[in-house]
Amino acid sequence: MSMIRRLFLAALALLVAGSPALAAPSDSSAFVIAGHSIASGTRADLRIAVPAGADGETFIPVTVLHGTKPGKVLAVVAGVHGFEFASILAAERLAERVDPAQLAGTLVLVRVANIPGFEGRSPNVNPVDRKNLNRVFPGDPKGSQTQRIADLIAREVVARSDFLMDVHSGDGAEFLDAFVGAYGGPLATDFPLALKVARGFGFPNIVRYAMNTQAQIDSGRSLNRQGVAMGKPTILVEIGQNGSREESHVAAIVAGVENALSILGMCSVPMRDAAGPARLFEGSLGVKASHSGVYHPTLPAPRLLAKGELIGIIRDYTGREVERLTSPVDGYALYGITGPPVEAGDDVVTIAIPATGF
Ligand SMILES: [Zn+2]
Repeated sequence: MSMIRRLFLAALALLVAGSPALAAPSDSSAFVIAGHSIASGTRADLRIAVPAGADGETFIPVTVLHGTKPGKVLAVVAGVHGFEFASILAAERLAERVDPAQLAGTLVLVRVANIPGFEGRSPNVNPVDRKNLNRVFPGDPKGSQTQRIADLIAREVVARSDFLMDVHSGDGAEFLDAFVGAYGGPLATDFPLALKVARGFGFPNIVRYAMNTQAQIDSGRSLNRQGVAMGKPTILVEIGQNGSREESHVAAIVAGVENALSILGMCSVPMRDAAGPARLFEGSLGVKASHSGVYHPTLPAPRLLAKGELIGIIRDYTGREVERLTSPVDGYALYGITGPPVEAGDDVVTIAIPATGF
């Protein structure tokens, strides 16, 4: 061996010894989230701390089930709205049912995204800063509490996932027919996979949300649209209404997520039968109230609506009728508010537009 070669090897050995990555190889099979490293085949229950900022600290409870074999990372987010209980109970049940030893890939369960909303029994908004978590993504680490929660969910959960599932219900004083929204269009990633997972829920309605422009993704960005923005196949799951905690709704979410694990190749259990063919819709539109006051819907329930049909009236606080709301299109009233409270700018009903196929 020449002296030059010997010197070169000595230098190389020094370099190797000095490099922490090579000196102590990290476990490449571990799943890393929010500074925690989770070994394969194990479960971890984490509290992701949301720093105090100007309006107080909170946390995000997350359970990670990290499989023994490599595979996709499925993020299931419950409780973005803390008064939508079915998702929160389903996440609790899934944490016990899914065995990391039998799993390929990783299931990340955000048990309650909005703890202040949940503990404060607050529909729509976080009571601390009165913001709707589903309108402030990607969030801001220096913003108010809801924005700080959104920032952590975007960076620690969505960014680490291969598929995003955001689970909601009709909120307090809202009606809703169960549906799954699948994100498609030119700016969404892998709509066919999202649709396949959506169908696995067996819900009666599927809506395609076509993402055609960046403005659609950015204005009042929801968690789903954050998923789209980060290039993740994404679905929105909605079941239950009026802050209910019906067992059948919880069971339907659990079955849908377990079917998703099978469709995504994360478990070897075959997919269970999902119920019959769903009605298909191409997007939806909201009918906005222009007045605040007391809302009297014609029928506060999911139903077909004809163009021009009366949806409801709004009275002011003297009882005088100030607004009549009619349907601008033929479609299906998928969800809406039951009233009686209504605020100017609220969507009183969201009408899904029937589609023959995708
Ligand atoms: Zn919601």
